[in-house]
Amino acid sequence: MKKPLSKKFAFIFILTVFGAILVTSLISNYMIDKQFNQYLLEEHQRKIEKVKKLVGELYNPKDPSEKLDDRQIKRYAMLEDLYIQINDVDGNMIFSSGQSHLLHKKMMGSMMGRMMNKKMDTLLGEYIEKEFPIIKNGENIGTIVIGYFGISNISGRDIQFKNTMNQSFVISITVTLLLAFIISGILSKQMTKPLEKITKVANEMRNGNLQIRADVNTDTIEIHELCQAIHYLGDTLQQQEKLRKRLTSDMAHEIRTPLTTLQSHVEAFMDGIWEPTEERLKSCYDEILRLKKLVDHLKDLARLEQDHLYLNKSHFNLSSTIKQIIKTFQPQYLKKNLKIIMNVLPGVEVFMDEDKIKQILFNLLSNAYKYSYEGGRVEIGLKQEDVLTIYVKDEGIGISKENLPHIFERFYRAETSRSRETGGAGIGLTITKALVKAHGGNIQVESKEGEGTLFVIQFPKEDVL
Ligand code: ADP
Repeated sequence: MKKPLSKKFAFIFILTVFGAILVTSLISNYMIDKQFNQYLLEEHQRKIEKVKKLVGELYNPKDPSEKLDDRQIKRYAMLEDLYIQINDVDGNMIFSSGQSHLLHKKMMGSMMGRMMNKKMDTLLGEYIEKEFPIIKNGENIGTIVIGYFGISNISGRDIQFKNTMNQSFVISITVTLLLAFIISGILSKQMTKPLEKITKVANEMRNGNLQIRADVNTDTIEIHELCQAIHYLGDTLQQQEKLRKRLTSDMAHEIRTPLTTLQSHVEAFMDGIWEPTEERLKSCYDEILRLKKLVDHLKDLARLEQDHLYLNKSHFNLSSTIKQIIKTFQPQYLKKNLKIIMNVLPGVEVFMDEDKIKQILFNLLSNAYKYSYEGGRVEIGLKQEDVLTIYVKDEGIGISKENLPHIFERFYRAETSRSRETGGAGIGLTITKALVKAHGGNIQVESKEGEGTLFVIQFPKEDVL
């Protein structure tokens, strides 16, 4: 069964506090009890020693003129809750303190026991009598009988002390639990309120409102990060939505242009208005090629997105491959009077998918061609330092700051009208990036509008050598 986070949090908090108090109380109660019993035992022993000493001092059977001061012993017996009896050497009782005060204590103990929900016997212990010899100047002059309740010989004050202790434990547990309850309520509210807001925003996004953002002010790192992640998700979805809409219109336009040309040409042929000359047929053929290229690009992209990027790696000379690709571009570059500068380190042997590397270079070089001004310069380089670096630098139209972060996205074209003129569909760089990543590398771009663009690809040596 699902439970709200606030309830779970409060439950865990209270459980933890309760557990902590329980353990602390049990341990401290046990320790205090142990110390207290030890103290009582010592105290009791001290009392008995004192009685023995007192009687030894006061009782002198050899001197009948010295009468035993039994009031002092009686007072002591009453004060310390003891029964004291003195016998002479023949066993005849000379003094007895009487047991009435002990019976009174027994009654008190029973009352206390009932209050503390304990049996009197466990509280006071059994009634015990002990007999000790009275020795004076090394001579046995009689015996003393001392009676009391249990070894604890617990007094009213002692019981009260224990009672107060237990009461204070109960009170502190109750107060702490009450406080824990209030604090957990406040804390869990503080914790769950921003989460509720974020959930609301996420639900709104699900319903299509991608502009909505959560107004969350929190100092909890995880919640802050969650909020950022949701906002990032919103931004991405918004961007994707924009791209999707643009894709539909772009694709429609991209397909309609060659189709319209083809339609008008073929109609003119059919109506006999135009002779199907070689030149006119070539123009139809070019349009068909354009359509085919578009479909191929879409196919490539679909393959990439389905994650079926299989690399067919082999050992080859990357320097030679780059030079070979540049060679194939030379006639095209000449048409635009572009100067090619090669800065390629010779003899770099790699273990990569050659076709995919060719495709990467093809995309970058055709972009450099498309977006360069007449008579510009394009520099292609290969370096091998800590990493393997390939770069393509042009002095073309450049990319604006706003467009730069998006150029690797699907169907993103920095300047729609100009890109359309150049025949691009905004797919080349998406594919390039995916191919670079598949080889464990990364691609970066630096560009200034009107000045030119630099693409830098880096591969970790261990992945490609
Ligand atoms: P396209 O097929 O439209 O060229 P890409 O994915 O290759 O698609 O590039 C995306 C966009 O990035 C292009 O439409 C273009 O606006 C911009 N771009 C790419 N390379 C360059 C470059 N060398 N100079 C200027 N802009 C470029």
